[in-house]
Amino acid sequence: TNPVHIIGGGLAGSEAAWQLAEAGVPVILHEMRGVHRTDAHHTDQLAELVCSNSFRSDDPDNNAVGLLHAEMRALGSLVMAAADKARVPAGSALAVDRDIFATHVTTTLESHPHVTIVREMVEGLPPAEWDKVIIATGPLTATPLAEAIQALTGQESLAFFDAIAPVIHHESIDLDIAWAQSRWDRENQDGGTTDYLNCPMDRDQYNAFIDAMLAAEKTSFKEWEGTPYFDGCMPIEVMAERGRNTPRFGPMKPVGLTNPATGRRAFGVVQLRQDNALGTLWNMVGFQTKMKHAEQVRVFRMIPGLENAQFARLGGLHRNTFIKSPVLLDATLRLHADPRIRFAGQITGCEGYVESAAIGLVAARFAIAEARGQAAVPPPATTAMGALLAHITGGADAKHFQPMNVNFGLFPPLVPPPLSKDQRKPQLVARARADLAGWMAA
Ligand code: FAD
Repeated sequence: TNPVHIIGGGLAGSEAAWQLAEAGVPVILHEMRGVHRTDAHHTDQLAELVCSNSFRSDDPDNNAVGLLHAEMRALGSLVMAAADKARVPAGSALAVDRDIFATHVTTTLESHPHVTIVREMVEGLPPAEWDKVIIATGPLTATPLAEAIQALTGQESLAFFDAIAPVIHHESIDLDIAWAQSRWDRENQDGGTTDYLNCPMDRDQYNAFIDAMLAAEKTSFKEWEGTPYFDGCMPIEVMAERGRNTPRFGPMKPVGLTNPATGRRAFGVVQLRQDNALGTLWNMVGFQTKMKHAEQVRVFRMIPGLENAQFARLGGLHRNTFIKSPVLLDATLRLHADPRIRFAGQITGCEGYVESAAIGLVAARFAIAEARGQAAVPPPATTAMGALLAHITGGADAKHFQPMNVNFGLFPPLVPPPLSKDQRKPQLVARARADLAGWMAA
């Protein structure tokens, strides 16, 4: 068998290398650390955790990332085995000793007979003689490769920053207050005029909200992130600092929207836009922010209609290289423009250590099936892994694609719907378990 070339030995690349090697498929893993540094990594170890030492919740019954842990363990994940070995006390979360974790991954791969590790930077598109490639170079992909990908796929197809607005579970929005209407009743391609949900504010509510944003605690930019703000990416609180009415001429403008409760225009409006094909997740349009997470929850719950909002993810603004996967990749993570290349990890637009490793795992499974001449079948979208994959490869709103953590909002709704709200998670989890088992057996 020809080797699979994996570019990047981080969370995704290491997991992919392990899965392939264990299946008997030879791997050449190209990792630049050792000869080139990144701005965030401190060591030359594979699968270095660049920031927190947490893999988040390990509870598979109540949390989607906990369920993803369980699915990855069932699929023989090296990253999860290393995390379990390196575990430190953290309640129901899975936190690890980062050195024990990365050492375990590194030595396991270094000693694997099917893995060759080459310490080098891949500076452009993979050479023609590499007939199977997984690109897993992560949020800090070296610039020459990022630019080569951009040249192949188009200027708009690769981002160097994420500007994430908070994403809210639809069921937690108060639809007695928020109303559905597109600005100026503009029609979408199907003639619909109710694509947005609008949360109205009167003058006092607006002023209190601006004051709360200005006073809220913010996270600071890392030095190397400190590039000037560019169009469409300015944090909402920075906009408010420029003038307390500036947001009312930007994302919070009330014109072209009539509140049915009053029959009038509001003083300010927060608009929500559908974020996934299922309609379970909605993002706050233009609300990318550097406010601390707890502050975002407190301040954004001041918005009428969002008093009880449950956030699928909170906002942020980071250096992050990622591609527009919903249009560039097929359902098995292959690049339409060059199908010998698969993408995996955070560069595909997932977010987080666990998610990155999970997408590395599934990319490798596809490559294994291909090497064996079998069909590459994605895991069902009802599993945590499949839901995340489906979001990346097609479920997300391609035009506004921004990185995403795994969460239950990505799962297709239950049919029939659960009889009570308490039943939702247990039923989603039971369905995921059964469907993963079915996929693994097939
Ligand atoms: P990485 O783990 O970054 O692996 C990519 C690898 O590719 C690196 O080893 C890099 O050296 C190598 N590489 C890049 N370009 C080339 C090239 N051209 N040739 C050869 N090798 C190359 N997630 C969390 O869950 N919790 C956190 O606390 C967290 N904090 C973060 C903090 C920062 C500053 C950043 C940037 C990200 C953070 N993330 C966090 C997000 C993300 O989950 C991690 O970055 C995760 O490591 C991504 O996994 P990956 O395998 O896709 O990329």
